[in-house]
Amino acid sequence: MSEKIIIPFIEGDGIGPDIWRASKMVFDATVEKIYKGKREVEWKEIYAGEKCYKKYGKWLIEETFKEIQKYGLAIKGPLTTPIGGGFRSLNVTIRQQLGLYACVRPVRHFSGVPAPVKNPEFVDVVIFRENTDDIYLGIEWEAYSKEATKIIGFLSKEFKISINEDSGIGIKPMSEFKSKRLIRKAIKYAIENNKPNVTLVHKGNIMKYTEGAFKKWGYEVAQKEFGDKIVTEDEVYTTYKGKVPLNKIIIKDRITDAMFQQILLRPKEYSVIAAPNLNGDYLSDAILAQVGGLGLGPGANIGDNIAVFEATHGTAPKYAGMDKVNPGALILSGSMMFDYLGWTEASRNIVHALEKTISSEVMTYDIARQIKGVAPVKCSEFAKEIIRNMEN
Ligand code: NAP
Repeated sequence: MSEKIIIPFIEGDGIGPDIWRASKMVFDATVEKIYKGKREVEWKEIYAGEKCYKKYGKWLIEETFKEIQKYGLAIKGPLTTPIGGGFRSLNVTIRQQLGLYACVRPVRHFSGVPAPVKNPEFVDVVIFRENTDDIYLGIEWEAYSKEATKIIGFLSKEFKISINEDSGIGIKPMSEFKSKRLIRKAIKYAIENNKPNVTLVHKGNIMKYTEGAFKKWGYEVAQKEFGDKIVTEDEVYTTYKGKVPLNKIIIKDRITDAMFQQILLRPKEYSVIAAPNLNGDYLSDAILAQVGGLGLGPGANIGDNIAVFEATHGTAPKYAGMDKVNPGALILSGSMMFDYLGWTEASRNIVHALEKTISSEVMTYDIARQIKGVAPVKCSEFAKEIIRNMEN
């Protein structure tokens, strides 16, 4: 008997329909070729963004959340941020409402993709970025607003802190619970995937009780919950004379600015990164650029029992409907989804075929324009070539 799974999908806005069509072809092909009918996927469309607005007069509907909760996962194309729609961002709303606290972004180089550094192949890192805390909570008030003025007055009266009265005010909460659950997920991932180290990235030298606490809580989780599996970088030197004990994962930390240098200069030393919201945001785009860019940046937003997979890039509206852009990021997000489901053979098949396709110089415009003499293929042609390169 065949195992059938229902996966909800959101097509997305702008280039969403183009890359979804191409990606779905690849997903169906890998499942068919690997499992030959023993496993099947039924895709179920759910709505958010412009298509949702046209159909239901709303940018997001309750049904969408219910379906994702029911099936425990979904895959989505990028969504436009509606202006004046009552949402700061549909993506942020989906992440927060479903408690998808970890934004997971694997970044590696694909042979044949031009990159701005000499050895992009040294980059192979998975970033765990906190999604529900820190500045993305969006607690801020405009300069001169009633609220900003009130807070400035309060700080002056209660704490003798003097702030210019023409200041905007933002609040940066970082909680022990939210920091620890993110770091716990990153360490678990490192253990399950035989990764050699986890780095906590923070600006704790300046923001001691938020970013500094993130680091402190990180070491606490590591030592208390994974003590037999990890070693701290300090211990490597103080106890083990600079030699990492066999089968132990090193837990280390880096101050954010130093981390930006380190990942450029010594990328081999980093395999998993756990970062608060803003650091993780900057860092994941910078590392992606280091290996050649957005078109191949997959991602997932994962909670305790729910995951939504999506490309890192946006809706690139100027290319909408042109069958032109690179579907690689969504295709690789699908590969992450198959891994999440335990369908690892289907996932590996996608990655190998994509590697083969790019290294044979079949590529969409974004990569082709950087290589002399290479003519771009369309979004759909790229997907078809990936399927041709798959194992049967
Ligand atoms: P963007 O849509 O990511 O596009 C910026 C540029 O990146 C494009 O013009 C294109 O570069 C390149 N690019 C993006 N995706 C590509 C792909 N698949 N293949 C090849 N090149 C690709 O960023 P944006 O213009 O800042 O944002 C547009 C909208 O997307 C906004 O409404 C934003 O809120 C939304 N957004 C959504 C998500 C999400 O749903 N997760 C994420 C980010 C942004 P060239 O022009 O150089 O060809």
